[in-house]
Amino acid sequence: MKPAVLVIDMLKEFVYGRLKSPGAIEIIPRIKTIVEKAREKGVPVIYLADSHLPFDSELSIWGPHAMRGDPEAEIVDELKPDLKRDLVFYKRSYSGFRETGLAYALRDLGVDTLILTGIHTHICVLHTAIDAFYERFKLIIVEDAVAAFSREDHEYALKYAKSVLGAQLMKSEEVLKLLEGL
Ligand code: ZN
Repeated sequence: MKPAVLVIDMLKEFVYGRLKSPGAIEIIPRIKTIVEKAREKGVPVIYLADSHLPFDSELSIWGPHAMRGDPEAEIVDELKPDLKRDLVFYKRSYSGFRETGLAYALRDLGVDTLILTGIHTHICVLHTAIDAFYERFKLIIVEDAVAAFSREDHEYALKYAKSVLGAQLMKSEEVLKLLEGL
């Protein structure tokens, strides 16, 4: 297995700002531990970050958010990427694969499995998982390191990813063991 860890949309606005969800703060320490272990084991850590232009389609649904250049669109300080080794891909839609070059980068890195963390379980995590499925990547979703606006949104997305995309649901403790064993 050649995994990469994805940290999805852990942006100031989504964690502490207007679109915050109750679970987003809670998952920070678990993501941090996974990211640190991945770095220690030489596993790629890839951040996906919303970075919207004023005419992006989803703004009609959510209103302006994570606008390009806005300090609120930055990744939270607790999970700052290590730019000497980590990669950051900026996206204008829910999926981290759409017009970002992510799939090419993952293939160049020889990655075959994605370990998904971040927010929101039923929006950007799910859409990224769907495109990852079509790009032939295996999926592990860290169920206690992803979060949504509500328990219900979180649960249905996990259920969908498992039953329709064949995603493996793992707890962060199990993922740490998996990374340790590499
Ligand atoms: Zn967005």
